Amino acid sequence: GDLYRPARRNSRGVELGHHASLTALHAEVTRAGAAPAAAAPIIDGTAQGGPSRQVASLFDPGVVAGTVVEADVAIADRAVDAAAAGFTTWCSASAAQRAKALRRAADLIEAQRARLIHLLAVEAGKTIDDAIAEIREAVDFCRYYAAEGEALFGAELGLPGPTGESNTLRLRPRGVFVAISPWNFPLAIFIGQIAAALMAGNTVVAKPAEQTPLIAAETVRVLHGAGIPVSALQLVPGDGAIGARLVNHPAIAGVVFTGSYETARAINIALANRPGAILPLIAETGGINAMLVDSTALAEQVTDDVVTSAFRSAGQRCSALRLLCLQDDVADDIIAMIVGAARELRIGDPRDASTHIGPVIDEEAKARLDQHISQMKASARVHYAGTTPDVGHFVAPHVFELPQPADLGQEVFGPVLHVVRYRGDDLERTLQAIAASGYGLTFGLHSRISQLVDRVGRLPIGNIYVNRNMIGAVVGVQPFGGCGLSGTGPKAGGPHYLARFATEQTLTINT
Ligand code: GLU
Repeated sequence: GDLYRPARRNSRGVELGHHASLTALHAEVTRAGAAPAAAAPIIDGTAQGGPSRQVASLFDPGVVAGTVVEADVAIADRAVDAAAAGFTTWCSASAAQRAKALRRAADLIEAQRARLIHLLAVEAGKTIDDAIAEIREAVDFCRYYAAEGEALFGAELGLPGPTGESNTLRLRPRGVFVAISPWNFPLAIFIGQIAAALMAGNTVVAKPAEQTPLIAAETVRVLHGAGIPVSALQLVPGDGAIGARLVNHPAIAGVVFTGSYETARAINIALANRPGAILPLIAETGGINAMLVDSTALAEQVTDDVVTSAFRSAGQRCSALRLLCLQDDVADDIIAMIVGAARELRIGDPRDASTHIGPVIDEEAKARLDQHISQMKASARVHYAGTTPDVGHFVAPHVFELPQPADLGQEVFGPVLHVVRYRGDDLERTLQAIAASGYGLTFGLHSRISQLVDRVGRLPIGNIYVNRNMIGAVVGVQPFGGCGLSGTGPKAGGPHYLARFATEQTLTINT
């Protein structure tokens, strides 16, 4: 039968098609962005002082987006101690009380939409529609985990047993969770990890990506304002060394992480090497995501879905399309259409509603992508090489063709699409080559052949999308996360996620 699903609705979008509503939104965002932004370690609700640095706006390096005080190791240690002290109170709050605070946080985030759109643009380079989608996802995570958690933690499970014996299974909080989140969803994934850990009755030390502390600090203030006790949620902005310090702290009970496979592996090793309890790691990492298009596909639909999957958010999604496998007899036509569509994409200021592609996250990311692009220009067939504005960290869309799927040996985190051709009688080999990367995050299929849908469904891949684009998983609709090198599971925004943040206890009483 169906899994139990509490009644709940996802948030609503914003109408961007009308000139008047767009102009009103712009005015609101500009007004909301006038106040300066600041981030600092927040320990028991108090922002900590220290040397601060200025954060420049991503697309306009002359403009200051805000100031940041980073945590040092002493503050990181204090944050864990404070969260450990806070655990005694928060773990005894009822599921209904925890859910109430998360629902209130969702309402407050919706109310602060303009401010968050501004911060997502200047700190993370998000376009208006990406920012709105991210805010909706953040809100949906809070309400989804509130509803799931009320059902899951609000009741004990009575189990059958012999006469005279009562058996009960219940979920219990673990303790202090370290939440390490990425810059590509600095609001949605940041709050999703925290909301899940808190809903399960844990306290949290959150370490946001070093590129996006301003959004993180704003979000923590919202959560505290919504009724999450200040001792239950501590914030430590900082770099990888701070993350390493946190995962080695003796008082933690688990880690939830989204980022690179290499970092997830390093966390796993650190957790394994600690003395004492065996701690859980919930990790979501990258992928070399492929889309397979056979000759039964609709070329116009393929073009639209490829452009969205490969280039939206400047390709900076874990889910994004990296490797497009085209059946040879339709390949030339589809490549021509994709190139035509890529030419129309506008690159620039993400706050401008006509912009499709904003900046990439930083100089380092741009340098890495530029290097990959020049390597591809020298070694691959070039179908399209876009051009970028001179200032800011922009990377234009590119389309290259490679001889074999395995020739793309790495995840390229930007708007670079790699195409390979396959012959109809070589389909199975192509699928095996895709699976051989060891990653298993997202996969796209464009085909009208139902046996092929069945075959693709047997691939070890977390999210499979047929005849549509392959990004933008919706909370409670497309639970998201991969397997193999792409993550441990459980899936964010799915019904099995929260249980992993808890331990189970069986209570047997001979009455
Ligand atoms: N959930 C996002 C999507 O479906 C991707 C998350 C990520 O990039 O980590 O596009």
